[in-house]
Amino acid sequence: MYNYLIIGAGLYGAVFAQQAKAAGKSVLVIDKRDHIAGNVYTEKVEGINVHKYGAHIFHTNNKQVWEYVQQFAEFNRFTNSPVANYKGELYSLPFNMYTFNKMWGVVTPEEAAAKIEEQRKEITGEPKNLEEQAISLVGRDIYEKLIKGYTEKQWGRDCKDLPAFIIKRLPVRLTFDNNYFNALYQGIPIGGYTKMVENMLDGIEVRLGVDYLENKAELDKLAQKVIYTGPIDAYFDFKLGTLEYRSVRFENELLDKPSFQGNAAVNYTDRETPWTRIIEHKWFEFGKDENGNDLPKTVISREYSSEWKPGDEPYYPVNDEKNGKLYQEYRKLAEQEKNVIFGGRLGEYKYYDMDQVIAASLEKAKTEV
Ligand code: UDP
Repeated sequence: MYNYLIIGAGLYGAVFAQQAKAAGKSVLVIDKRDHIAGNVYTEKVEGINVHKYGAHIFHTNNKQVWEYVQQFAEFNRFTNSPVANYKGELYSLPFNMYTFNKMWGVVTPEEAAAKIEEQRKEITGEPKNLEEQAISLVGRDIYEKLIKGYTEKQWGRDCKDLPAFIIKRLPVRLTFDNNYFNALYQGIPIGGYTKMVENMLDGIEVRLGVDYLENKAELDKLAQKVIYTGPIDAYFDFKLGTLEYRSVRFENELLDKPSFQGNAAVNYTDRETPWTRIIEHKWFEFGKDENGNDLPKTVISREYSSEWKPGDEPYYPVNDEKNGKLYQEYRKLAEQEKNVIFGGRLGEYKYYDMDQVIAASLEKAKTEV
């Protein structure tokens, strides 16, 4: 009998497993996929660590989390500075003086602030949705060219029907600074995320290709307690209805040239281009292999966003009002499952970043094990 059966070898599960083992507990980790690391999984192609489930750039302000991950990987100094492509016009992200200069020709922070001030006047009162929040942050011009199309493609919903908090993730600055994140610490684990998670799971029994929900009764007998990081609605067999998720599809291409776009991420912010962004993976590690040599080829991924349907991978919870309410109902059921802990993006139906998932898992382990 194990102390813990952990469902899902992604960050939440791996961190919990690592902490439990360190505290002398016995753990078994299972995952229905044939690999560990969940959606941070990376796979080497032609010397390039390809982020198979989309770009993951580690960033945090949480020193404890940063110190924790350092135990399992060395991080490079990658700084995320995506470029937005609006019908062939290129803009710097996040919204900063480079963006404002290109958009309006303004040169000083004062001029930029005045421009935003003038445009945000159309929003009076507290912003009620993503559209109003965006216009109130950066004005209508930027909203129309850099936010509206991208957001509607990513979420498949009108910006008026999306919660304001999604756009608050993006910084707005009156300085010349293309660093996407306001974070003290940032980087990509050298050698890939898979390696990092492998190190977390060192010495821990992991069984892959095992579907928990299909074999629940049997598997539950193996441990005193279950840590479940899959979708919370699936756990309860969708009995209250299905929560909505966004899924992502990737079209990967190996190109026989050293560079395709010269940057890790280019967002296509118009409505017509069918993909939301193109990731060129080699730039997460500066285009070099582990010996510092330039890589001759490149791998790109076009990212297409879609509504989740059974059989797809869920990526993003849709944290709007309707889903929020349904989640609260599931949450009540979850609280009655005394021997199960629900954790992570899917288990808690929460748009967590990696560092937040790690923090939540560390916190849970502290009170639990
Ligand atoms: N966003 C946008 N334009 C961009 C990039 C992001 O409007 O070029 C908005 C969009 O609404 C998106 C949100 O900002 O859902 C959060 O973007 P982020 O890059 O943080 O999302 P993630 O990397 O988690 O997909």
